[in-house]
Amino acid sequence: MKATKIIATLGPASESVEIIQELISEGVNIFRFNTKHNDQTWHEEMIARVQRVANELEKPIGIMLDLQGPEMRLETKNEQDVLLTQNQEINIYRDFKNKNAKLALPFKEAFTLLTQGDRILVDDAYVELEVISLGRDYLTVRAVDPAIIRHKKGVNIPKKRLNLPALTQNDLGYLKMAQKNKVDFVALSFVRDVEDILILKKEMAKQKIDADVVVKIENDIALQNIESLIEAADVVMVARGDLGVEVPIEELAYWQTTIIKLCRQKNKPVITATQMLESMIHNPYPTRAEATDIANAIIGGTDAIMLSGETATGKYPVRVVKVMKKIAEFNETKLEKLPIDKNINDRTNLFAKLALTVAKEEKIPTDKFVVFTQTGATARALSSLRPNIPIIAVTENKKTIERLTVSYAVKAVKIKFPKGTIRHPEYAIRQLTEMGELKEGENIILVHGINWQTPGSTNTLSVLTV
Ligand code: PEP
Repeated sequence: MKATKIIATLGPASESVEIIQELISEGVNIFRFNTKHNDQTWHEEMIARVQRVANELEKPIGIMLDLQGPEMRLETKNEQDVLLTQNQEINIYRDFKNKNAKLALPFKEAFTLLTQGDRILVDDAYVELEVISLGRDYLTVRAVDPAIIRHKKGVNIPKKRLNLPALTQNDLGYLKMAQKNKVDFVALSFVRDVEDILILKKEMAKQKIDADVVVKIENDIALQNIESLIEAADVVMVARGDLGVEVPIEELAYWQTTIIKLCRQKNKPVITATQMLESMIHNPYPTRAEATDIANAIIGGTDAIMLSGETATGKYPVRVVKVMKKIAEFNETKLEKLPIDKNINDRTNLFAKLALTVAKEEKIPTDKFVVFTQTGATARALSSLRPNIPIIAVTENKKTIERLTVSYAVKAVKIKFPKGTIRHPEYAIRQLTEMGELKEGENIILVHGINWQTPGSTNTLSVLTV
């Protein structure tokens, strides 16, 4: 069983039923719907399609809706490319009312916040502009290198907290769809502080959306608040695309490793995203650096690895998942994960640690962990220790099954729990054996609570042979 979870972004290259079927068969656990691209009708249709295919294949598949949040884009007059030579100066206006305007940034805030010497990065930092001076309704910038500015490319202004709303009108429209289509994860872009997460959670509660919030870490302000953001998140994404623009590139690996460690300490699943197999958008085979990057993310302890353009628009959407799966499967069992220091201050974490200790330290040959769980919390606590032993999370809750699609080494299985005290855990073991999840003769470590249906009551660990 592949322990590392794979997330694939759906797009024109992967939207057919046949490709979705293949992607699921090859190991995709979650499909991401990036609202930056396509329209709501397309996303709605595709979410329904993935859910239908997953049901037919009887595979638990998570659906992640990725809200783009406030994103600034630089506009060019008549959508014409603007070519700049090195050190050439040009004015950026708020709109195209001035007849000399070739570039417009329709975000009033940016004009009040920017000061001389600030950097404006455009198009994933392929274009770097330095603010030279500020006029009444424009700023004068200098191209640091020769540059081509294309219409509506994204703008990053590192180290500045723009007073933009956490959710745009567009995001609110997509949240209505999230409720209707029963998505499992809602990802929020450009999160700055806990307040942004609370705004989204409040809106989700208002609209009765039962989904985990994925906090995308992609700017310097988020890094300053990293501990509180992880605490408030359900799931965290190291969104290396924008993060690599907002922080100096040499800091990216440090932040990835640090965020993964902090997430594991707090039992929060963590996703490593962007450019994992970028070259395979065009080529049938990855670069050595990409293969090593995936392995290093796994050694660092990531729960999940994500594909963006590779599956959305790339030439080899299925092949790319096959390659990712092979790299993951080989490295996750061969190499030890980075250790973490973890405070064991509650029963959930205590029993997770005990289960792993029994399996490892006493050298009892354990084939599987089996965890009875309502919310998935105990399974996530055990998963955060990144065991090389599969965790079967047994639950009666369909939402828990889908949420656990992001958690390392966890396979969630649905069983209808009886009511009352857990006197006969064999009830579930028998069903798991009939379902083929456990085999006769396997040694398992079972973790469960007092009652079948009470979350947070974990208090029992037993070693059994099936
Ligand atoms: C990223 O920046 O790495 C990312 C995943 O975000 P998006 O694809 O939404 O730009």
